[in-house]
Amino acid sequence: METEQEAAIDSERKIQEIRDALSPDRFREWYGERQYRENIENGTPYFNGPASIPEPERHSPSSLLQCHRKALYRQCNTPTEQPDPNGIFWFGTMFEEKIALPFLQQSVTGTDTYARNSIWIDSTVETDVGELRIKGSTDPVIVDAESIPILPTEVKTKSSLDNLDSPNRHHCAQVHAYLFGLSKKYDIELTEAAILYGSRKSLDILTFHVEFDKSFWEDVVIEWASEHTEYRLNNELPPALPEFSWECGFCDYYERCGKGETNTEGIGVTGFLPLFDGYPRESAIEYLEANDGAKLTPTLAYRFPDIASQYGSYDWTCPVCGVNRQPESVDWDGDTNRPPLCGTCGEDGIHSSLSGPFPESSAILEGHENV
Ligand code: SF4
Repeated sequence: METEQEAAIDSERKIQEIRDALSPDRFREWYGERQYRENIENGTPYFNGPASIPEPERHSPSSLLQCHRKALYRQCNTPTEQPDPNGIFWFGTMFEEKIALPFLQQSVTGTDTYARNSIWIDSTVETDVGELRIKGSTDPVIVDAESIPILPTEVKTKSSLDNLDSPNRHHCAQVHAYLFGLSKKYDIELTEAAILYGSRKSLDILTFHVEFDKSFWEDVVIEWASEHTEYRLNNELPPALPEFSWECGFCDYYERCGKGETNTEGIGVTGFLPLFDGYPRESAIEYLEANDGAKLTPTLAYRFPDIASQYGSYDWTCPVCGVNRQPESVDWDGDTNRPPLCGTCGEDGIHSSLSGPFPESSAILEGHENV
């Protein structure tokens, strides 16, 4: 029979196990594994790895009319400098599935109209740079009894709907792509779409009706897509010109683009910045898994020694004398504002800081032919 003392020890052990399990690391691991399983169970295992790099002529409705440089980095799976906004994605999906779609099905559609959760579009358009392809899936679409589209919608969530008096221009571009693609697919002429914004704070909604505007579609949206395809075909890093003033503040490539503290005019799509240690752990792992032979910079090896031991890391290098030093042989406190000094140069009275390798800045798509 268990003594009182043994029972107390057992109880303390259980509590300790629970304490250990109730940790951010355990949660992150559990959430990642759950996502992985769900993607397989939902028939979308391709979401478990990095997205494949699209053909230069291909555009998805959601990527239209944004900063060309940011769009290129995204397409090429360039390592992101901020954690994925999983909470916003999750809320967006839940809002669409649990609130917006039931609202459309139960309260907006009537006896002879219905709401489909999405329709796949894949249409082409002739331009000066060749045939472009607009491919992707819509948000809920209101259809007739034959399941023919009547009105596509785009559902978005925002932290607040205060002061929202018009839809975002790239959301207008997105619904224009739906109108264009659905009209072609069903050989009909759809002219109106709706954008529905939901508040993450109050759950209120705001709706905007958007009329198909031929000149906006051809002169603005298709023009943007042609320009983007041209950058891709020319293997050229687009200029750091956001389409909207707010874009840079939310950008996952702020440092790489040269807007932050890193002294650069814009770096190509591959590799980590040498003295930037702000990459989130998941972003570093994702990049290393997707790129055979990729390694951490010495800066990141200091921050993530366990990842470095699995994938390897580059040496510190002196840009003046060219000497290489293994990360573990260099005494450094991890302060990126004070990178380690080169001892060899120091012996000659030269002050030089060590650095990791710098990703290519001119050949932006080195090793990614036609990316
Ligand atoms: S920081 Fe601004 S200009 Fe640079 S890629 Fe991002 S959005 Fe574009």
